[in-house]
Amino acid sequence: MCNDRIARVAFHEAGHAVIGSALALPISYATVRPFNDWAGHVMFAHNFVNVDSEPHLLLTLAGPAAEQRQFPTAPRLDHSIDMRCVLGIIRVELWSANIERDGLRKARGPAQTDIDAELAKWQKRTGNIVDQHWSWIVRVAERLQTLTGLTGDEIVALRPGASSNNPVATFSTTHAPYGSAA
Ligand SMILES: [Zn+2]
Repeated sequence: MCNDRIARVAFHEAGHAVIGSALALPISYATVRPFNDWAGHVMFAHNFVNVDSEPHLLLTLAGPAAEQRQFPTAPRLDHSIDMRCVLGIIRVELWSANIERDGLRKARGPAQTDIDAELAKWQKRTGNIVDQHWSWIVRVAERLQTLTGLTGDEIVALRPGASSNNPVATFSTTHAPYGSAA
């Protein structure tokens, strides 16, 4: 990987990791090391089955959003894993709403225009939360480029204003990792 690509991966993974941390989803680690087909990844010490769709959507979209904010004109990394995950959640939510409104037998699958509108809404919300935590994302991305990996506790400690005497979050990262975001 050339340095430019490592920097893109670092901002992408920092986006996932910081927004996950900001939403109090415990992280095991973030890395820019390639793994399977992923350029890098963030491992969450959490089973996403039990996570509300809102933090799940925000942290998943935060990777592409952070990468795009830092490198607006560079060729994108492959976002297909993130986008499949986000569109899957959106489809299920819209389906459920249709069933609730029209009943199971009459309800139709979500229209593409509704899916597009939901995606745009969540991308806007993600952009706002990424802006809000941008200095934290930059610090994590810079460290990821030199260290190749950070633990969840190290990511929390990099939050601007955090210090070892004044921990921002105290969640444990000792659970077995279940969920992940590529
Ligand atoms: Zn990603």
